[in-house]
Amino acid sequence: MPLVTTPAIILHAFKYSDTSKIVRLATREYGVQSAIAKGASRPKSRFGASLQVLSQGTAHLYFRPTAELQTLSAFDVAEQHPALAHDLGRYAAASALAELMLRCAPSEPHLALFDFVGAQLDHLATVPPQRVATAALAGLWAMVTALGFAPTVSACVRDGRALDEGAVGFSVPDGGFLCARCTRERTTTVLEGPDRRALEQLLAGSDELPAGWTSRHAAAHRRLLARFIEHHLAEGHPLKALAFWETAAWNGTS
Ligand SMILES: [Zn+2]
Repeated sequence: MPLVTTPAIILHAFKYSDTSKIVRLATREYGVQSAIAKGASRPKSRFGASLQVLSQGTAHLYFRPTAELQTLSAFDVAEQHPALAHDLGRYAAASALAELMLRCAPSEPHLALFDFVGAQLDHLATVPPQRVATAALAGLWAMVTALGFAPTVSACVRDGRALDEGAVGFSVPDGGFLCARCTRERTTTVLEGPDRRALEQLLAGSDELPAGWTSRHAAAHRRLLARFIEHHLAEGHPLKALAFWETAAWNGTS
């Protein structure tokens, strides 16, 4: 079995048997992989504390393309992001992003997506505190877009008609904004002008605070994004980290 090295991000880790751990890794060259780290739960394991969720580094794998479980020989940590571990808002958003990568990424290697997730973790760890909420929204919408599910906001998603100025309907099942006629016919979330502009700004990748932004707006945008992901990407499976991020129970705004 060849030993390969690849940049990797630890998306999930759990104890296996008395002495080992299983990690789920996003790897740059080999896609998302599961690997056993034998002996990683022993007190004097050579893995030490390297196998923390959200750590970025280099994985050394005994790799067989057809195997469901690879063997992790070592993991050299390059970045462990203590800021993510010590701030629940940052941690919840980063965990939701990692969960999307784990559950919704294509099985084949996707270099751009791997680099994108790494950059988003860096950004969530370093963005100023007042922008964590908007950085999380912009980052998760960008992940949705990177996975191929970008919402349509330039014209009516159903018939391509031009959108009215100001308030506009957003249909989660249809996947975007609706013209006035379709808004009357469909059950939609109506976004008033400021919320519509905020969504357009977030989809453009900005974490600047939209005008008049409050925790109520943040909660409504989290709810809309979580419903969109659940409908289009989750295929009926619960996404626990996304649900935790959406309720934002840590700051009492749920
Ligand atoms: Zn329409």
